[in-house]
Amino acid sequence: MKYLAVIWGIFLTVLCACQRAPEPPETPFNAYLPRPFEEYFADYVPSAEVAESEETKVWDVSDVDISQIDTSRKLIAFTFDDAPAKTMENILAVFARFNEENPDCPATATFFCNGIRIRESVLPLLQTAYAMGMELGNHTHSHLDLTKLSTDRLLSEIERTDELLSRVDGKPVHLLRPPYGNVNEQVKAISKAPVIHWSIDTLDWRKDEETTIYERVWQGRFSGAIVLLHDGYPHTVSALKRLLLDLKADGYQVVSVSAMAKAHRCDLKKGSVYIRIRKRRDLS
Ligand SMILES: [Zn+2]
Repeated sequence: MKYLAVIWGIFLTVLCACQRAPEPPETPFNAYLPRPFEEYFADYVPSAEVAESEETKVWDVSDVDISQIDTSRKLIAFTFDDAPAKTMENILAVFARFNEENPDCPATATFFCNGIRIRESVLPLLQTAYAMGMELGNHTHSHLDLTKLSTDRLLSEIERTDELLSRVDGKPVHLLRPPYGNVNEQVKAISKAPVIHWSIDTLDWRKDEETTIYERVWQGRFSGAIVLLHDGYPHTVSALKRLLLDLKADGYQVVSVSAMAKAHRCDLKKGSVYIRIRKRRDLS
């Protein structure tokens, strides 16, 4: 019993010694440095990500031409996904004809392209679109669900398409429309452009009748709305003809997404998701 008490005493002593807080060093850390502590951080340059200011997060629309936009009109943005596909030429022809007959209210749109569709042979078509004032957007390379991809694959899906589009418009980055509208935090963090969703889904890919597509836009229209259409369906082209005329008669002008953002003086932020682009309140 006596031995047990001694062993217990030794154990407690060792335990207490282990748990005792270490003594603070008598000499402060700074004293070991050959120059003042702050000087070590004087030349510190944060990484690009950290250094990004609120200003650099704003989507640059300085080269977007809005001289043809009638500011007294309501604006609505038309977007065509899965471009360039088999109806792009027809869609452009509808815009060209409308603009010729309505020089007071010319219409433009944003074409969200898949890199996989941008072959050498369609570059002239994209160049024609760009020359007509159309905006080219990024719908990724191979139309995959971005939320299911690794970081590397996600980056390459976006960057490959940006590179191809820059051959047409010279811009390094383009508005992002994720396939299926699927976005997560990783997509938002990686995107160097605003992420553009929509306010009105025409569901034209279901190959609905022209009237159904038309009615979805007509019933859902409001100033600042973004309309989702697709390249590839003849009924979409027919509906487009009626919509351009009737929207004009109703006081609207059909424009691209970036043109609407600039005209509405709404700063789009990189990595943010937009379903509409309202006019700033101080603009009457
Ligand atoms: Zn798509």
